[in-house]
Amino acid sequence: MKHKLMVGNWKMNGSLQANAALLAAIQPGLSAVSCRVAVCVPAPYLAQMQSLLSGSVMAWGAQDVSAHESGAYTGEVSASMLRDFGARYCIVGHSERRQYHGESDVLVAAKVQRALSAGITPIVCVGETQAEREAGQTEAVVKRQLAAVIHTNGHCISEIVVAYEPVWAIGTGLTATPEQAQSVHALLRKQLEAASAQAERIAILYGGSMNAANAESLLAQPDVDGGLIGGAALKAPDFLTILAAASRQAL
Ligand code: PEP
Repeated sequence: MKHKLMVGNWKMNGSLQANAALLAAIQPGLSAVSCRVAVCVPAPYLAQMQSLLSGSVMAWGAQDVSAHESGAYTGEVSASMLRDFGARYCIVGHSERRQYHGESDVLVAAKVQRALSAGITPIVCVGETQAEREAGQTEAVVKRQLAAVIHTNGHCISEIVVAYEPVWAIGTGLTATPEQAQSVHALLRKQLEAASAQAERIAILYGGSMNAANAESLLAQPDVDGGLIGGAALKAPDFLTILAAASRQAL
């Protein structure tokens, strides 16, 4: 995959003022960037992204979506609502949602289906906990999580993005080594290839404490098609350094 896809996950951070300042600091640097880039923001700020990023090379998206189409689901936000505000992407099944909100593989798969039917690209997160890695279960866990999404979404699977995010590396400062990332990405790639003749279209991102110092070596791995970046996406210089590293890979 020639052009890497780099996605910032702002998590539950920001304000109208802070977001505008962050984008103002990032945008001038985008002219030098040749990777694909997006930010996934809290849902209330999608309107702000639509107003500030329309016409920019930087796309925007959400961090979650309801598994329901519409109706009596207080507090939920539907895929068509995200689409109304120009969301191109939506993170689905982030480990913080799986851990703190009890999201199951089946629910994640249903959310992916909703996003796809609204024309939004779901960024499907999979990843093992520290305990699962230590128990030698990494492969089984990520395959199970992805299998649920493949099972529910069939041939549409070529329209998704996958993010391998080892739970032990998220927000901890611990990063998978490039070799650890590559080996999981390679097995996810195989699983996708077995499910779809168009699997080569699917970007597999790495996420978990990616930063300005380690991005280059992670992105150099053959099956690492980009990054999902949390903490470092909130600092304009760091985010731009990561985007520059991703852009160099496409040369
Ligand atoms: C994330 O939350 O998706 C993530 C990768 O976070 P961080 O980069 O902060 O580890």
